Parts: sequence; structure tokens; C-alpha cells
Amino acid sequence: MARQFQRTKCRSRLLMGGLLLCFICAMLMGIALIVESAGLRKVSFQKNEVQSKSTADHTLCVLVPFRNRFEELLEFAPYLHTFLNKQNVKHKLVVINQMDSYRFNRASLINAGFLETRSQCDYIAMHDVDLLPVNGALSYAFPEMGPFHLAAPHLHPLYHYKTYVGGILLLQSQHFEMLNGLSNKYWGWGREDDEFFVRMKKAKLTLGRPGNLTTGYRSFRHIHDHFKRPRDQNRFFDQFEKTRRVDKETGVSTVKYKVDSVKDLVISGAPVTVINVLLVCDLNLTPWCLQAEDHAWYNKSVLHKNAPSTKIKSISTATAT
Ligand code: UDP
Ligand code: MN
Repeated sequence: MARQFQRTKCRSRLLMGGLLLCFICAMLMGIALIVESAGLRKVSFQKNEVQSKSTADHTLCVLVPFRNRFEELLEFAPYLHTFLNKQNVKHKLVVINQMDSYRFNRASLINAGFLETRSQCDYIAMHDVDLLPVNGALSYAFPEMGPFHLAAPHLHPLYHYKTYVGGILLLQSQHFEMLNGLSNKYWGWGREDDEFFVRMKKAKLTLGRPGNLTTGYRSFRHIHDHFKRPRDQNRFFDQFEKTRRVDKETGVSTVKYKVDSVKDLVISGAPVTVINVLLVCDLNLTPWCLQAEDHAWYNKSVLHKNAPSTKIKSISTATAT
């Protein structure tokens, strides 16, 4: 009896171990892709606690890539406005609202926002609308020493891998320009920030991060409802292959868009500029910018009652409309 119990225990331990190993491997493989492709070995992070105390000579443009996140914006704008005022950070809140019907493109919206506001600010924050700093020690001061990743992996509630630079990243405007901004190839969710990490690394910029705060993963509030706001993780055509290497072609110098209109709002006392933008997609370069239902194959397959799953990884034979 005892031996049988031992054997069962042993087997379930093996099973648990195996499952854990698979999970860790899958996580590492995903994260490592872009980093490996750039041949990175060592990530040299500097704890950048000593930030400039002088904020008087600088102005921050908070660039918020945006589509259909109205409730979050109502909470975000007044909250961040107050937070930045407490730190005496001169700032402008800029929402870049994607109006076209292509898939969401966080990177191109930030590029467009940068071009539209660069005369007004000397540094930017690429800022998610649903990430609120909680700990007052999270500094939005001018990043003198190089890019400053505020939503650091040891503080972000969700993303903990070492090379993560998404969520909130502060950057001198001259550095953003030097790096040619962000790649425009990332339509749909994810990876544009990982590619930007490689750009910074290749340019040998030092990435700063806040020191260990006692608040840990509670340093930010992520007001993201996963049911209401599902992430667009589809990968169409050869999107996966084409976006796993560093992009030497596109960036802030090549982003194509039209400004539909600019609106100045005040949300509970917080001034916000909304730039309504129509992105332009080059269907030859990135056919995966189309929504699933806008692909020719999608309508055909619906007609034939054989709709493909929307979680398709790669459809190399499909043609774009
Ligand atoms: N976003 C948006 N509308 C969308 C998708 C994304 O406004 O349909 C913006 C928003 O600022 C959001 C950011 O892009 O905070 C990052 O997207 P998401 O929150 O889905 O990514 P996460 O970091 O939670 O994985
Ligand atoms: Mn989110």
C-alpha cells in the first residue's frame, strides 16, 4: 500500500515537473525570439535611481496609443495629470486615436504622435492607457542618462521578463529620433516593444529602471479587463516570421498616416489633446494589417461554411483584398 502510494506520488511529481518545464520552455521560447535573432547575450541594465531633479527646463509629451478604451481614458487622464503635477513635471497628455479600420498598431500611433508633437516637448513617455503608477517614487523626470523604463519587469503586475520595455517608457526626443522610433510592421498585439529593446541595445543606449521599490508588483494598477479587452494575437500570412527580427526598414521616418482632426478636451480637470489619425498600410509590405474579416479568404470560407479559426498562425497562401 505504502509502495503504491509512493509510486503514485512519484508519478504525479514527475507529471507536475514535466508540465512546469513545458510551461517555462514555452515562455522562454517566445521571449527569446527577437533577442536571440539580434545575437544578444548580456543585457546591461543600470539601476537609474538618480534622476534629474530639475524638471523646469523640460516638457514631457505623454503619448498614449489609443482605440476604443474610453472608460480607461476617463480614469487615466485625471489620475496621471495629478500624479505628474505632484512631481512638478511639465507635461502634455496626447491621445493618438486610431480611426482607420486596420488592426491596432501601437507603434505607428506613437510614431505619428511623436511627429505631431515634437516641437512642444523634449522628451516623451510611450504610455499605455490602462497602466497607472501607484507609488509616488516612480519618477517621470527627464531621462538624462538614457531611456528610462518605468513599468519595469520587477514592478509590472503582469510582465516579468528581463528585456521587457513596454507599458511605460520614457525617452529623450533626440534618442527616439536617433533610433528611428518604432517599427511600423506590428499590426495586432505585441512584440513592437521587444523590437524596440533591440534598437536601444544596438545603439548602445543605457536602459535605466527604478530601483527596488517596496511596493513590488503593486507599484502599478493595470486597469485591463481581460474579457472586455481581449488582445488581438492573430498572426496572418508570414507575420510571425517577418516580425521576429529587428526591422531595419521602417520607423518614425517612414510612418504613413493622415491626421483627420485634433480635439482639445478636458477630462475632470485634465487637459488632453486627442489626435484622430488614419494610418496607411502598405499591403505589399504588411498584408497582415487587415482585420480577419477583411481578407478575401475569410468571406469565401464563410460562404462555404468553413470559416477558419481566428487563431490562425500563418496563412501563406491567402491573398489580401
Ligand atoms: N490599445 C488600445 N486599443 C486597443 C488595443 C490597445 O487603446 O484595441 C492601447 C492601450 O493604450 C493599451 C495599449 O495599447 O493600454 C497596450 O495594449 P494592451 O493593454 O492590450 O496590452 P497589454 O500590455 O495589457 O498586454
Ligand atoms: Mn493592458
